[in-house]
Formats: sequence, C-alpha cells, structure tokens
Amino acid sequence: MHQPANQPRPSIYYDYQVFDAWLPGATPPGRTPVVIAGAGPVGLTAALELARHGVPCVLLEAEQQLSEGSRAIVFTRRSMEILQQVGVAQRVSAHGLPWRFGNSWYRGQRVYRLEAPHDADDRFFPMINLQQQYLEQYLVEAVLAEPLIELRWGNKVVGVTQQERHVEVGVDTPAGPYTQPADWLVASDGARSAIRSLLKLKLEGASYEGRFVIADIRIALPLPTERQAFFDPDWNPGNTVLLHREPHGIWRVDYQLPAGETPEEALKPEAMRARINALLAQIGHADKPWEMDWCSVYSARNLTLPDYLHGRTLFMGDAAHLLPIFGVRGANTGFQDAQSLAWHLAMVVKGLAQAGYLANYSRERVGAAREIIEEAGKSTRFMTPPSRGFRLLRDAVLSLSLTQEFVRPLYHWRTSRPHEYTHSALNSSGDDNALFQAGPGHGAPPQNIRLGPDDYLLDHVGGGFDLLYFTDGSAIPAPLLQVVNAWRARGLALHIHAVGPGHPVTGADQTLPDTLGHLRQRYGVPASGAAYLLRPDQHVCARWMTLDATRLQAALKTALGQQESS
Ligand SMILES: Cc1cc2nc3c(=O)[nH]c(=O)nc-3n(C[C@H](O)[C@H](O)[C@H](O)COP(=O)(O)OP(=O)(O)OC[C@H]3O[C@@H](n4cnc5c(N)ncnc54)[C@H](O)[C@@H]3O)c2cc1C
Repeated sequence: MHQPANQPRPSIYYDYQVFDAWLPGATPPGRTPVVIAGAGPVGLTAALELARHGVPCVLLEAEQQLSEGSRAIVFTRRSMEILQQVGVAQRVSAHGLPWRFGNSWYRGQRVYRLEAPHDADDRFFPMINLQQQYLEQYLVEAVLAEPLIELRWGNKVVGVTQQERHVEVGVDTPAGPYTQPADWLVASDGARSAIRSLLKLKLEGASYEGRFVIADIRIALPLPTERQAFFDPDWNPGNTVLLHREPHGIWRVDYQLPAGETPEEALKPEAMRARINALLAQIGHADKPWEMDWCSVYSARNLTLPDYLHGRTLFMGDAAHLLPIFGVRGANTGFQDAQSLAWHLAMVVKGLAQAGYLANYSRERVGAAREIIEEAGKSTRFMTPPSRGFRLLRDAVLSLSLTQEFVRPLYHWRTSRPHEYTHSALNSSGDDNALFQAGPGHGAPPQNIRLGPDDYLLDHVGGGFDLLYFTDGSAIPAPLLQVVNAWRARGLALHIHAVGPGHPVTGADQTLPDTLGHLRQRYGVPASGAAYLLRPDQHVCARWMTLDATRLQAALKTALGQQESS
C-alpha cells in the first residue's frame, strides 16, 4: 500500500502543507478523457491548459505535498508568457526577483558580463527567480479553483495497460489500489518516471561525470539579482561555482565537486560549511552569518526519449527528457511541452483532429529537446569539462579571457529559449511567409508588443487559434467570416483580432488599436488586408500579405492535420 510522507517537509522559509489523500470508494471510477500522472510544475500546467481548451482531466500525484527544496529557481520570459496563459504569471511577478545580467569571474577579474535583451515591448523580464515550491503552490491553487480538474493527492501510478482505444491506469493509495480507465495517459511523473520504466522505454544521450552540490542558504548579502559564475576559484581549483539570489533572503550556491568525491562526503555538514565559508570569503563576506535550508547533489544529464507518443501514453517534462540545469532548461522546457501537449490533445479529444495528430506533438517537442540538448551540451562541457581535451580548451579560454576580448563570448551559457517549429507539418505551405521582411515567421513564438501603458499583444491571444487581421477598414470581409464561423460551428476556438483602427471593426472579436503602426512595423505588415494565424500555443503557422477565404481555409486544414495546403 502506498504511504506517502505525511509530515511537512523541513524548510526555514516555506511552510509545507500536507494535503488529504484522495481515497477510492466502493464504486470503481468511470472513464475520463485524460489522466495526468504527476503534479509537478509541468503536470499542473498541462492540466490548466487542457481545462482552458475545455477538456477535463484527473491529475494523480504520488505525494501529499509540494516538492522538496527550491529546485528550479529561474523562469524565463517565455515560461512567464505560458504561465500568464494559465493565470499565475502575475503572482510570480509579484513575488519573484527579475533579472537580466550575468557575470563570469576568473582570477578575481570579471571576464564576461552578459546582458539579456529586454525592450519596451516585453511585459516580462528575460529571467525571474522564484523557488519551485512557490510556483507549484500558485499552480495548485489555480488547479483547485478549476472544476474541470480533479487533483488526487497520495495517488501513485503503479501500472499501465494499454488497449487500442484506451488505457487502464493502475493506482496505489494509502487505502489500497484501484484502476482508473482513461482515453489518454500523460506521463509527467518526473526524472525517475515509473511510466517510462513500465513501458520499458530508454532515454538517449549523454550523462556527465561532473557532480555539483546545490545548497540554499539564508544570508543577507548586499548583492544585486544577477547570476555570478566563478571559474577555477582558489578554494575549488579547476571547478566552477554559481551563485543566484532567490526571494525570502535565500541564496543558491552550486559548486562542482573535485573528481572522486562521493555525494555522502560532499554533503557532510563540515565539508559544506568549509566550502560555503570559502566562497563567502572569496566574495568579501566571510563575516556574514548564514544558515542552511536544503542541499542536494546533482550531475548533468542530457537525455531524451526519441519519441514522446507510445500508444495511448504521451510523455512530457522530466519524464520525457533530462536536461542540465546550466541554462535553466529543466522546468522551462517542460512548460513548453505542457502547453504544446495540451492543445494537440485537446484537438483530438474534441474530435477536431485524428489521433495521429499527436505524432506532431512528439515530432515538434523531440525536435526541441534535441536542439536544447545540443546547446546544453556546449555549456555543460564548458562548465564541467568531461575529458582532458575539453579541459585544456576550456582552461585556454579562461586564461586568454584575462586579456583577450574576443574569447569572452565563449562564456555565454546559452540560456533556455523557445524552439521555433520552422519545418512543422502544421505550417501553411501556400501562404506568404517568405515575402515578409520582419515579424515572427513559420513556427516562431510571437513577439510581444506593447499596446498601452499596461496592455500587451500576448494579453489578448491564446487558448485557441488567433487570427491577427491587419485592416484600415470597418468590417472583416464576409467570406473570411464565413470560414471562421464554419470552423467555430465544429467546435474550434478561433478568435479574430482586428489590428489597426481606433474604432470597432464589425465581425472581429476585438480591435487592437495600432494607430501609430508599431505592431504593423514589428510584424512586417506593409498594407491593410495582411494577417497572421497563431496556433493555440501562440506560435505562427501562417501569415499572408493578403488574406482571402480560400487561403485561410487551407491554412486551418493544414494546422489541424487534415490536408496539405497549396
Ligand atoms: C535536486 C534538484 C535540483 C534542481 N535544480 C534545478 C535548477 O536549479 N534549475 C532548473 O531549471 N531545474 C532544476 N531542477 C529540475 C526541475 O526541478 C525539473 O526540471 C522540473 O521540476 C520538472 O518538472 P516536472 O513536472 O516534469 O517533474 P517533477 O517536478 O519532478 O514532478 C513530477 C511529479 O510527479 C510525481 N510522481 C512521481 N512518480 C509518480 C507516480 N508514479 N505517480 C504519480 N505521481 C508521481 C512526483 O511526486 C512529482 O510531484 C532540479 C531538480 C532537482 C531534483
């Protein structure tokens, strides 16, 4: 019988709540369209996204409380845009610490300073720091307020039996086991995914030997919210050390262990105290008292499943891939999976696309993971060189960087960024993508645009397909409306946003005033009658210099996997 810990986890700054376990009754539960296994940040986000698309789900979580330790602490702008969609970005902004500068230090000299781009059109900072438990808490509160989601604490998935048209999910609880039938199972049960093991699936890629200690300490350090990376410090020769500020007076210290040191030796209190004191002495704050909140040992892995769709089971987040933390990729990549999986699955559950459509989710997100793995491999090899050759190269860069400007960009740690589905099968082939001189192209995420003092383009789009129709006129052309209304009648969420005039446009769901032409200019639109079609994850799937009903119909069919457009 599954007995999750029911004592609150220890923490000096976060009060863990133990939720009541959900226990099965005498009647077996009925079939549900979707079961999500794992209520980590990725499973919670997917549940909320599915609910936005009108799809109910049962969310099974083995534990009865939020995850232990701060874990993922840096969330990117794109993650915030996704979290905005599910209604929690405001709370993250209110409690998190935004930042955009990173510093690399060698021999006491700052050898590189990264400035992440941030302009007036961005609602969110490039990065914001917040401990993972807080983010999970905001997501759980949003889930509990959503009637389409049933969250069952203390429910551990222990078995999966796949049939042609449904899946039987074996679940263990503190009151014994039961079976939950579902049309689809979504595995977001984390790095040690039981579902991955039950289906006998293997991750592909590389694991690195370099081990890091992650420690959260409470200390009053008068330093700004910027990333600090120290290479080859005297107290940890040849190795790398990272320092990040978190809310609530907590600082994250990550330091690499000398080769051969075991996690048990590294986590001994006296070993940790000596190293953290040495770091504080190095940065001139040896006098500051500090206390430990949480610590763990970590080694970089760069792995993915080659396919995220297996029968009636879909994988996402850490269950699908394991990414190094350098470049803040774990949770940030997972949010993009969750958003993508939810809308693809919603189209299938609602009968707007065939089951085979889900292969597109897998293709796109495996492609994203492979790109991220390639980038993460470069930064991991720089942070923790895996062989003598890589170490020689890295050390040459370090010493050259003291005097030579040109090698300094090699310190860039390639922060997580959204993947562009440039070659997606859902992109329209008969549009005018190639004719545009500016703006997001096929498969790209949208560029946010500031429309007013506290008003941005991305506040208005998402949750369905969005047609941005650039017009000087006063009405959406009737043939376009006919196409839109026919799709709506079949259950597709499709919104028309008239961009341009300061007056209402008949037939549009809303008008986005762009009287100075800023949005037009950023989106490369030369004249009235141009349009962009955004998928429910806001990525562009078609854009036209001139839109007509035939082209819109073809693009929508392509985007729903129904036919190639021409
Ligand atoms: C020690 C540590 C430090 C980290 N530090 C960073 C960092 O600094 N930066 C960064 O970006 N990322 C970091 N990560 C990674 C980051 O935490 C993950 O990428 C992120 O949590 C992934 O979210 P997820 O929802 O996919 O998985 P998880 O957060 O792992 O959630 C999985 C959920 O599934 C539940 N579960 C597991 N098995 C079952 C089952 N059989 N049935 C039902 N439920 C189940 C678990 O209890 C958990 O709630 C760290 C991870 C760890 C472990």
